[in-house]
Amino acid sequence: MTDQLTEEERAAVDAYMADGGQVSVVKNESRFDKIARRRKLVGQLRSDGQTYTQIVDSMRDRGWFITISTVAMDLKQIGMVRETPRDGSGKPSISQVKRARAQEHAKRVFDRRRFKTTPVPFGEPSRMVDASEDGPVFKDRVFQVDGNETVLKDGCNNSKIGGDVLVGRLKGAHIVTLTLPERTTCPSSCKMWRGCYGNSMHYARRWAPGPELERQIESEIKALCASYELVLVRLHILGDFYSVGYVNLWAGLHKEHPGLHVFGFTAWPEDSRIGQAVANLRCEYPDRFMVRVSGRTGTWGSFTLPFPTEAKTIGDAIVCPEQLDGMKGSPDGRHCGNCGICWSTDRPIAFVEH
Ligand code: SF4
Repeated sequence: MTDQLTEEERAAVDAYMADGGQVSVVKNESRFDKIARRRKLVGQLRSDGQTYTQIVDSMRDRGWFITISTVAMDLKQIGMVRETPRDGSGKPSISQVKRARAQEHAKRVFDRRRFKTTPVPFGEPSRMVDASEDGPVFKDRVFQVDGNETVLKDGCNNSKIGGDVLVGRLKGAHIVTLTLPERTTCPSSCKMWRGCYGNSMHYARRWAPGPELERQIESEIKALCASYELVLVRLHILGDFYSVGYVNLWAGLHKEHPGLHVFGFTAWPEDSRIGQAVANLRCEYPDRFMVRVSGRTGTWGSFTLPFPTEAKTIGDAIVCPEQLDGMKGSPDGRHCGNCGICWSTDRPIAFVEH
């Protein structure tokens, strides 16, 4: 019978068994689950007060062959950054300085929204189009990227989103939004294909997908991350991930810019190539790439309700507080910036159709 273990796992079992120990290997585990399990273990050892070198040794004893840089990367991904500099100088580390600056900025943030009343959702699409429509109704609102205008827009221009995060772990983050052409970039299986709320968004500026857009996003994210410690991108006000390459662009940006965070929704099912790429990226960065799957409940799900409601929860789903507030005329000024549920939990979120 062929060996069911990888070479690394087999070497670990052999070495450990030679010492009279026992190794438990999780079978049929995905690469991402394995990474998550490793990070949890590394975090536990660090919480127990072990140094990076001791963690490497302890992990080897448990059958994991990792280096100090993997330990550093894992700790960074789970938010356990080095508190003292490597040189033992007693000066604050770079991460401490950055965190202090972000906290200072967070104290000064306020609601910068230009418009504070949000649309009232009624539980039905405001406009339906023919099923054969394959792009926006407002075709003259799709623009080619030419370098003369930013494609990532300040969230303060959107009453529902807001310009800054005012609460929670991302407090102080600068919010920007990206809008792509609806239907052109979406899977035709989307349950909102005919009733997409872009059907009544005359003014939205939609950016044509392609290499120019990707280059522009790359350069704008670089500039934003140089100016702000924390940046939160709302993908996509309209439209969706249009290719695996485009998902990979966001993967690369996450790797390059530790302050970058994303939240949003995709209608691509998880068994499609794009949906799988999105799920993998979320699995790699669960605290930074918070993209939910539309049209289903369950972990990281989101779905629409065909009726208005005052209920705060429906089953295990949380009803979007901005919409609940909007149905009452927005007395609490609820918006994403002062809600933050979308990036604080993997529980499903329900939205009233509008
Ligand atoms: S649940 Fe909160 S964060 Fe999510 S869309 Fe609604 S207001 Fe925004």
